[in-house]
Amino acid sequence: MKSLSVGSSKFTVDNVPDLCPICNFHVQPLSCFAHTSGRRLQIVFRCVRQECDCLFFAYYRGEHVQNVGMQYHFIEFKPKSFISKNLNAEIRAISPNFEQIYNQALHAESLGLNHIVGPGYRKALEFLIKDYLIGLFKEQEEKIKKMFLGNCIKELINNENIKLCAERAVWLGNDETHYTRTWEDKDISHMKELIELTIYWISSEVITKRYLEEMN
Ligand SMILES: [Zn+2]
Repeated sequence: MKSLSVGSSKFTVDNVPDLCPICNFHVQPLSCFAHTSGRRLQIVFRCVRQECDCLFFAYYRGEHVQNVGMQYHFIEFKPKSFISKNLNAEIRAISPNFEQIYNQALHAESLGLNHIVGPGYRKALEFLIKDYLIGLFKEQEEKIKKMFLGNCIKELINNENIKLCAERAVWLGNDETHYTRTWEDKDISHMKELIELTIYWISSEVITKRYLEEMN
């Protein structure tokens, strides 16, 4: 627990911000104003970076500890800015939709919308895989668009690394969209890791192919 001074008041809190949730720089924000109502404590902070200079709120929940007094536990910052993921040029070229959907899912995750994050990543994955396959088999575009994603992966992907990772990402993605879970010990973080691996293997394949064509 740390002591935090706001004007003439002092609060015992478990977390004093060392990061601005707007510009995401590590700074020591200035505490400007505090307001308590019941057990809730709201503090207004100001980012000390000149280029940012934004105000934000930190929310705490109080707990009365015998012989010590009120201790406040940090809950969240508001607002929180969202930093989109920069995908490499190869993936962006294969599927601009993937980048857009993936970042929307990431944004939902940053807002704590946990029930819609998984289906968002699952949809992003579908666009990545189908756009990748349409790039390889242009003549089968209409067929690929209509196929189940699992069948696309099983029947059309030859690269074992892409196939094995994408397949497993879809298994976890289906868990995110269905009523019951098959993979009880896996969650969205594992699905994201498998999508990262799929991105990595697709990029590796595309970049390798490009070098082999350029330096034949
Ligand atoms: Zn800032």
